[in-house]
Amino acid sequence: MPQLIAGNWKMHGLTADAVALARGVVAGAAGLPCELLVCPPFVHLPAVAQVVTGSPVALGGQDCHQAKQGAHTGDISALMLRDVGASWVVLGHSERRQNHGETDEQVREKVLAAVEAGLTPIVCVGETADQRAGGQETEVVGWQLAGSLPQGFATSFTGVVAYEPVWAIGTGKNATDQDVATMHAFIREELERQFGEAGQGIRILYGGSVRPANAASLLAVPHVGGALIGGASLKAEDFLAIARAALPG
Ligand code: PEP
Repeated sequence: MPQLIAGNWKMHGLTADAVALARGVVAGAAGLPCELLVCPPFVHLPAVAQVVTGSPVALGGQDCHQAKQGAHTGDISALMLRDVGASWVVLGHSERRQNHGETDEQVREKVLAAVEAGLTPIVCVGETADQRAGGQETEVVGWQLAGSLPQGFATSFTGVVAYEPVWAIGTGKNATDQDVATMHAFIREELERQFGEAGQGIRILYGGSVRPANAASLLAVPHVGGALIGGASLKAEDFLAIARAALPG
């Protein structure tokens, strides 16, 4: 399976910025060895959808609510994302877990809602600096995987997992290739334990300060199925440079 290079634009830019960024990505997207995905802020999805439709660039949301509809002020349903052209959604990002108190159980419900609406979920897991300092990184990530991934994650549909150590997000401190190798091998084992042989087919992205300069070595680590990119996805040139370092699989 080709690697997936996904851009999480977070809460950056106005409509014109999002459209310009999407145009830049689309302009360089032909012939790349990977799948490309951009996840703009909700309000920019329709404008970005117009730019990426018919191109190799897919569209995703950065979150969705677990309910189909209802009295959930400020939230967005999975079907709303689908309706404006998204086919992917990022779930359980550490900024959602930390800033909005999202639990593994909520993430698992969101995954089910996303799949029911026809979206492919990317479920983020990762330890904090304190947890790593305490040697708890595998334990924490193991619990997150067990709690956030519903049955059927690898069988009724194929979701994606993103390993994003919290201490590496937006800090400029990426995990070393060795850290990534250890954690991705551990995640692969856990996925196989949870889902049997089907767990081998789940792509595991790495996220955390991926840049053009470190992309090639991170993407070459065994069990790395692509990258989830924050800061460097806000410049089309950097995002595309990372995508050029991807492996066709
Ligand atoms: C992210 O937010 O998912 C992320 C990986 O951010 P950055 O690339 O900026 O570290």
